[in-house]
Amino acid sequence: MVLVKIIRVAFLVVISLNLAIADEIDLNLFDLKRLNDNVYVVSQDYGHSNINFAFVIGEHDVALITSMMKDYSRHVQSLVQGITEKKIEYVFALDGDYYQYNGSRLFVENGATFVARENLIPDAFANRILVASKRIFDLKYEVIEATPTKAHTDDHMMLKLKKSNIIFAGDAVGFDWIVYSGKNGPLAHLDALKSILRDVDDETKIFPGNWSAKQYGNKVDLENLIGVYEEFVNQVFLLSKRNMKPEDIAADESIHSLLRHLNSYDFQKDYLVHYVKDVLSEK
Ligand SMILES: [Zn+2]
Repeated sequence: MVLVKIIRVAFLVVISLNLAIADEIDLNLFDLKRLNDNVYVVSQDYGHSNINFAFVIGEHDVALITSMMKDYSRHVQSLVQGITEKKIEYVFALDGDYYQYNGSRLFVENGATFVARENLIPDAFANRILVASKRIFDLKYEVIEATPTKAHTDDHMMLKLKKSNIIFAGDAVGFDWIVYSGKNGPLAHLDALKSILRDVDDETKIFPGNWSAKQYGNKVDLENLIGVYEEFVNQVFLLSKRNMKPEDIAADESIHSLLRHLNSYDFQKDYLVHYVKDVLSEK
């Protein structure tokens, strides 16, 4: 009887601990939108920008499209549990950024498979699929197509939800500002953007990793990004050939006149030199 009592007390302690943890999770920073029966997009308020991630509900299980930061894993878990009791089966990391794998840990430890572009920086997680070429994940209610690209680091992967005609492009794409190419350089990034464009029709919704004014874009927005980024890259190369230093290029009026109409200009203009250096690192 004593043992039963101890077990009963232990059980109650566990329940109240769980309730305490649940109570602490403040979801105020998260804006959850249902796009259709099976796709939810969440936007997290991250100060000067917002971060997009998503849940895809399949017949038997759930796919997380980017896992967010490690500090928010329990928030993400709690958001999923508010929608469905189905198990999280896949966690997709779209970029080779460290937060993408740190933020995936909780879900992988709970049995999910980590899916990322081949060459993701750390050699982490036994339970993983590294994508080297186009690959389909069939969740029945939705079909996810993963396509590796050379945009934004060499570890980027674009996801297309075939039934919903939605693309998650991670940090390869942004509709408020230009992009960072990473070590493959701006020309590889431009090629990647053009390959994403070939997968887009007039109805496709394209979700970037970050946004401030525009949570998602369409084909015209992607064409505009390609146009502005290509002009920026060409102008940086041109000024660099005139032996201008990155700091001087970043201050040049020809550069500012290209970018002034973008939503995040007022915030980002002070960081322009980093974008100039990113372009020049290719040479
Ligand atoms: Zn990134």
